[in-house]
Amino acid sequence: MKIWCATGNPGKLREFRLAGQVLGIEVEPLPDLRSIEAPEETGATFEENARLKAAYYSRFAPGPLFADDSGLEVDALGGEPGVFSARYAGEHATDDENNALLLRRLGDNPHRTARFVCVIGLAVDGVATHVFRGTVEGEILYETRGPGGFGYDPLFYYPPFGCSFGEVEGERKFGVSHRGNALRLLLEHLGG
Ligand code: IMP
Repeated sequence: MKIWCATGNPGKLREFRLAGQVLGIEVEPLPDLRSIEAPEETGATFEENARLKAAYYSRFAPGPLFADDSGLEVDALGGEPGVFSARYAGEHATDDENNALLLRRLGDNPHRTARFVCVIGLAVDGVATHVFRGTVEGEILYETRGPGGFGYDPLFYYPPFGCSFGEVEGERKFGVSHRGNALRLLLEHLGG
C-alpha cells in the first residue's frame, strides 16, 4: 500500500518513512512540494491545520495523502507554544531560537509537565476525510540534552526512557511518540 505525505520538514519525513517501513506501508513524499505554495496555517487548533493542509496538498497527489500538524504544549505556559511551535520565536525561527525562548519563558518554574501533540489529516482529491490525534507526555528540561531528533526534542524529557528525545534513536522515539501514535491510528484506519 502506498500513501502520499506532504511535509517539508525533513525530521518529520524521516520519522514517517521509517515508521512506514516498520509497518509495511510505503510513505511517499509529495514530489516537488517546494514548488507548491504553502497554505497559510490559519487554524486555531492542530485539527484545523491538519485538515487544511491535507485537503490543500491532496489536490496535487495521485492518491490518498496525509499531512500533519504538530507541536508542544507546556502546561505552565497555558499550552504554549501549541500551534505556534514552529514559529514560537518568530516566523523563520530556528530550533535553537525556539528552544531558547521556551527556556526563558519557563525560567526556573518547577512545574514543567508538557506533551507533544500530532494530528494527522487524511484527504483525497481536495477533501479532508479524517483526523488522527497522537500525544506523548513528558517534562521540559532546564537545558538541552542530546544531539538527535529535531525541534524541541533535546528539551523533552521522557520519564519511561529516563532521557530526552534528543538522546534516542529515531525508531525508538517513534515507538512511543505523538507522531508514531497518530500514524498507527491512521494505519489501523487503512486496515494496515
Ligand atoms: P508544524 O510543521 O506546523 O506541524 O510544526 C511543528 C513544530 O512543532 C516543529 O517545527 C517543532 O518545533 C515542533 N515539533 C513537532 N513535533 C516534534 C517532535 O517530534 N520533536 C520536536 N519538536 C517537534
